[in-house]
Amino acid sequence: MELTNTTVVWYRNDLRTDDHAPLVYAAQRGNVIPLYILDFDETEKNSLGGASKWWRNHSLISLSESLKKMGSQLVIRQGKVEQVLIELCSEAGADQIVIHDSIEPDALECDDKLDDLFDRSGVELVRFPSNLLWPVGSILNNSANPYQVFTPFWNRGIQQSKIGQPISAPLKLHSPDQRFTQLSVEQLILGSNPEWASGMNRRWSPGENGAFNSFRQFQDLYLEGYHEDRDQLADQGWSALSAPLHFGELSVRRVWHTLTQQANWEQDPGRYSFLRQLGWRDFAAHLLNHFPHTTDNPLREQFQQFPWRDNENDLSKWKKGMTGYPVVDAAMRHLWQEGWMPNRARMIVASFLCKDLLISWQDGAAWFWDTLVDADIANNTLGWQWVAGSGADASPFFRIFNPMTQGKKFDPKGEYVRRWVPELASLSDKNIHTPWLAPVDALNNAGVVLGKNYPYPIVDHAQARVSALDAYSSIK
Ligand SMILES: Cc1cc2nc3c(=O)[nH]c(=O)nc-3n(C[C@H](O)[C@H](O)[C@H](O)COP(=O)(O)OP(=O)(O)OC[C@H]3O[C@@H](n4cnc5c(N)ncnc54)[C@H](O)[C@@H]3O)c2cc1C
Repeated sequence: MELTNTTVVWYRNDLRTDDHAPLVYAAQRGNVIPLYILDFDETEKNSLGGASKWWRNHSLISLSESLKKMGSQLVIRQGKVEQVLIELCSEAGADQIVIHDSIEPDALECDDKLDDLFDRSGVELVRFPSNLLWPVGSILNNSANPYQVFTPFWNRGIQQSKIGQPISAPLKLHSPDQRFTQLSVEQLILGSNPEWASGMNRRWSPGENGAFNSFRQFQDLYLEGYHEDRDQLADQGWSALSAPLHFGELSVRRVWHTLTQQANWEQDPGRYSFLRQLGWRDFAAHLLNHFPHTTDNPLREQFQQFPWRDNENDLSKWKKGMTGYPVVDAAMRHLWQEGWMPNRARMIVASFLCKDLLISWQDGAAWFWDTLVDADIANNTLGWQWVAGSGADASPFFRIFNPMTQGKKFDPKGEYVRRWVPELASLSDKNIHTPWLAPVDALNNAGVVLGKNYPYPIVDHAQARVSALDAYSSIK
């Protein structure tokens, strides 16, 4: 039987061919037109940050190559979403557009508008669940309300619903005979060359193949010790899969089912704690779905009154990694170079910004948004509100990280600091996290001139802690 339908597969944060329900569905209907839209209408708020754009563009090149091997061609167009979709459907005679649901509030709003628009134009928008373990809204407490604490959310999730089995990519895609005007993938790269791209180029391999390789490497090298090693800053003990998961290069269901094939996986501590982190990713998405205002506003209302300081100078020193606290500076420079830092480092720098400098989590979240390759509206919001104490299941505000203790505990030999703050590289392990306490001889021998080639601490942590607690008591 000849299949004559033509379907547009509108790619967003699902830049893969594996476990891609819209692609499989479209392939079964007939001709397939894979499409990616560079939104003309991007506002400051919802547009991708520089580092994410770099990742997305490289990932699109990789997707385009994969689709070519399957007999298809990725069409990239720029413009207003509804206009691009309508024009392409009319040029190609397509009667359906298929998408994975987004969890991003702006995208959801846009999809609801499109539903209405297409109802009137005769084109149907067909939606599939997004790249999560459990569809948003499906994990609720006994009163049918969203969970605001992670552990009961997780327990309910794994008890209540089976996680869907991943599906394989179609072997072949049928394309319409006509050619469509479009941007070339090379044009994408020309448009984006952030200053820090060389560090990212060295570190990352965006795209589905790179994602699978990283996942395989993680299983071989780090999964077993994940529960113990994930917090160490200098040696990889984590997966570094956040960007592949964010951009949907890797299906979370594929990851889940690969790792739970082993009998008694719950008893394997590395495996279990990694899968539990994937649960945090779902938790963040489910929370965002229920509380979309939390991208800009605290979940806990009392934090609206928090007396954050507006201090561009200190904010700029934090961004540049010039706070005088070596572990904070190492992490911020790591972020600038590679567009990424491990979870422990994120917690340390976020705590320093919100509690030592009393600068708002929204300022920190905005910087992360622009500089992280894995910038994710749900995870970033949850992470910052967690550290600031204003969010769901948050760390209490009065728990204030001590940057010296954190450095000594999670970078005991100072390797992370030496890698990213080379001007301190010759200090001993004893002095590397507290150069301002080092004897003059030790500083001289290491070539460190405080106030010249490395700053004095911009705040005194003990005093900053007292100020933070005072500020917090004003809203309690
Ligand atoms: C202030 C702050 C901001 C953050 N911003 C982001 C962000 O923009 N994008 C982002 O993906 N993560 C963010 N996180 C969460 C977490 O730090 C990263 O997901 C993790 O460091 C990525 O490294 P990994 O892939 O090696 O994680 P692994 O430890 O290997 O974990 C595997 C996966 O689980 C998910 N995950 C792990 N921890 C968390 C968590 N705490 N919350 C939600 N999901 C989690 C991620 O998808 C991650 O890739 C933030 C955390 C904090 C404290």
